[in-house]
Amino acid sequence: MKKILALMLGLFMMTGCHGNTNQEHDKLQVYTSFYPMQSLAEEIGKDYVNVVNMTPEGEEAHDFEPSVQDIAGLEKADVFIYNGAGMEHWVEDISDAIESKDLMIVNASEKVDTIQLEGKDVADPHTWLSLRNVVIQAEAVADAFSKADPKHKEEYRKNADAFIQSMKALDEKYTKLLEPYKGKTIAVAHASFGYLCRDYGLSQLAVDGLSSESEPSPAKMKEMIETIKNENISVIFYEGVSNPKVAQTIAEETNINTGTLSTLESLSTEEKEKGATYQSIMEQNLEALYDAFRQ
Ligand SMILES: [Zn+2]
Repeated sequence: MKKILALMLGLFMMTGCHGNTNQEHDKLQVYTSFYPMQSLAEEIGKDYVNVVNMTPEGEEAHDFEPSVQDIAGLEKADVFIYNGAGMEHWVEDISDAIESKDLMIVNASEKVDTIQLEGKDVADPHTWLSLRNVVIQAEAVADAFSKADPKHKEEYRKNADAFIQSMKALDEKYTKLLEPYKGKTIAVAHASFGYLCRDYGLSQLAVDGLSSESEPSPAKMKEMIETIKNENISVIFYEGVSNPKVAQTIAEETNINTGTLSTLESLSTEEKEKGATYQSIMEQNLEALYDAFRQ
């Protein structure tokens, strides 16, 4: 009796495990470096991929370093998608460390025409903040998925086409709404909107001190106000996580408007709970830009 029970239990466990493992193994195992890459992988992979995003919610994506656990997970994955253009400085180190020959490593911005960071001899890494770049990056992801999982090639193509179409429609909306404000300069916390500004004929000025938690000294404040007056800045934007007080004080002193722009570098828990996506946040960014210019 005991023997039969053990056998039955064994069988039950085997089938139970088998079912789960199969389901998991059927899906393409995808690792992504930070939020915009996760979003691309999910939009294009949908039900056929299992996406693990490495940079935790709310964490500063520029400072992220993968843990030993992240690397162990990567070794078991099928595809790893990173933005490139210098965003993930740690990728070179891990690609040397990873022994799995089956892992497909995808530099999503490889075919993007990068621009230089102002005053620096390096590429601006914020390629994903341009809808035109994102179309190119989506193609790179669709290509990678089709190669890694040819069985679902048609589905990936279909998902990519739908996503690309909505990006093009949103780009047209940006172009139309921002047309009257061509040539304007926006002040931002950190210089992340270079590609977006390029697409719609705007300029950005990164206001040092706007992104830090602490308030700048009175001397620094005075300098920031002078710069904004001299550069003929129209709007001052702060990022969702930064302290709006500094931006508000400056805006009052200089008689300009304020707004919030998201860099999409990391979604907050609140945004995640609300079901925010790359597209919904890019729509919010357009509203913020338009509202601020129009006021
Ligand atoms: Zn950034």
